[in-house]
Amino acid sequence: LLGGVAYVGYEIYQDRNPEPQVKPDPSKKTLVVLGTGWGSVSLLKRLDTENYNVVVISPRNYFLFTPLLPSCTTGTIEHRSIMEPIRTILRSKRGHVKYYEAEASSIDPERKVVRVFDNSEVRGGMIETEVPYDMLVIGVGAENATFGIPGVRENSCFLKEIGDAQLIRKKIMDCVETAAFKDQSPEEIDRLLHMVVVGGGPTGVEFAGELQDFFEEDIKKLIPDISDRFRVTLIEALPNVLPSFSKQLIEYTESTFKEEKIDIRTKTMVKKVTDKAVEAEAVGPDGKKEKVTFPYGLLVWATGNAVRPVVRDLMGRIPAQKDSRRGLAVNEYLVVQGTRDIWAIGDCAVAGYAPTAQVAGQEGNFLARLFNNMAKTEMLEEKIRDLSGSLNLKPGNAAEISKEIEDSERQLRRIKDIKPFHYSHQGSLAYIGSEKAVADVSWFNGNFASGGSLTFLFWRSAYLSMCFSTRNRLLVINDWLKSKLFGRDVSR
Ligand code: NAD
Repeated sequence: LLGGVAYVGYEIYQDRNPEPQVKPDPSKKTLVVLGTGWGSVSLLKRLDTENYNVVVISPRNYFLFTPLLPSCTTGTIEHRSIMEPIRTILRSKRGHVKYYEAEASSIDPERKVVRVFDNSEVRGGMIETEVPYDMLVIGVGAENATFGIPGVRENSCFLKEIGDAQLIRKKIMDCVETAAFKDQSPEEIDRLLHMVVVGGGPTGVEFAGELQDFFEEDIKKLIPDISDRFRVTLIEALPNVLPSFSKQLIEYTESTFKEEKIDIRTKTMVKKVTDKAVEAEAVGPDGKKEKVTFPYGLLVWATGNAVRPVVRDLMGRIPAQKDSRRGLAVNEYLVVQGTRDIWAIGDCAVAGYAPTAQVAGQEGNFLARLFNNMAKTEMLEEKIRDLSGSLNLKPGNAAEISKEIEDSERQLRRIKDIKPFHYSHQGSLAYIGSEKAVADVSWFNGNFASGGSLTFLFWRSAYLSMCFSTRNRLLVINDWLKSKLFGRDVSR
């Protein structure tokens, strides 16, 4: 306990007493890191920043703990509890570390510059500039896939950023309060209280579960007159939800959703969205296709990732990337194919793994080790060169210098022997509502699948331990307690 208290105290002390700002060192390489998500922040956390002049560029000046984002849509967790400012993350780093709140619009690998822009309200306009790099890490993530389906962008809410969760929270209450207004027609009440989620991946499933909890535990009690009209429908094109989980957990999720009265519509592909209805094509049990329409009050679109324009633009400039479709193809050291000094991590990189936070985090950790080693290698090579040069100048010390050269060479061989990136899958977790979760966990080289209330406790403790900082952990615990004791805040 004492150790724990001392650790927390040290962390808080370090956070409150930043390292002094250092000017860029012209003898060091400039490492530009794009993004402040799982990949980039994992890299920055472990990178020995004293070896480089580090420049971090991202339009989002905080790290977001995305696994708990669905809980923000209903107020189970307040959004600031899962945000960690990038300035706080960077202030304990040594050496020259700069952060610019800006978005990268293009990368020129020939001139080795990133074009960035900042569209600030207080400036009253857009400003654009170039940032040169010696080494570049692209960790910009992905955007929401809409597959060009008409009406999706204009009418849906997404669930990727904090603003999306806030918008959903507002819209849920808007639908509820509008439905509860005086003299509404029954059809309009049904439409407004129909919450439609498209995409049965983990994002869609977790959100549907959170939404039903919110309704059962809070809205129903506060506004009982609409309680039998609220409905959640989850639409999925494939024959089942959570395709990346085991069959047993898919069945468990589907039966839990049935108990929770969440309507799952599998083999149903959305084709068009209007401002009040979703139009889809469903394959019936006889294999026949039929058109189905779902009038909705709130529509949440969670059908996975698409490539960001800045990444697509770079792919177009590198001939070796012409066959890559889902992002920047990288080699086993995460170097972007067709380049020497650009690395890509996380959802914008294609390294043969699913686009998850876990993969991005491990890729960031790997790059930090790689860059720390590269800097040490350069230092040792320089030392060996200097020592070899001084052998002729100080012949009396030859034995001593030779021994030092030998030691340095041994150290160099050890450092240079970096194994390629290898992803180690720790498992997948998903919350499915009514205090139940599913877990597919790798355990002592075996697989362990579980679902239920105990798994829910495991899910909570796993996510709590993964939170970025002690501050985040305390805030999340506080939010869980608060919503359990007093209910969620339904103000808009
Ligand atoms: P996803 O890609 O996992 O799932 C999207 C689903 O949408 C697919 O099953 C697809 O069949 C369906 N779909 C696509 N177009 C459709 C249409 N027109 N009509 C109906 N259905 C359609 O997306 P996600 O859930 O956003 O997850 C993205 C990535 O992040 C995945 O790799 C996922 O594993 C990971 N993730 C993991 C967790 C977790 O482990 N708890 C949570 C969130 C995300």
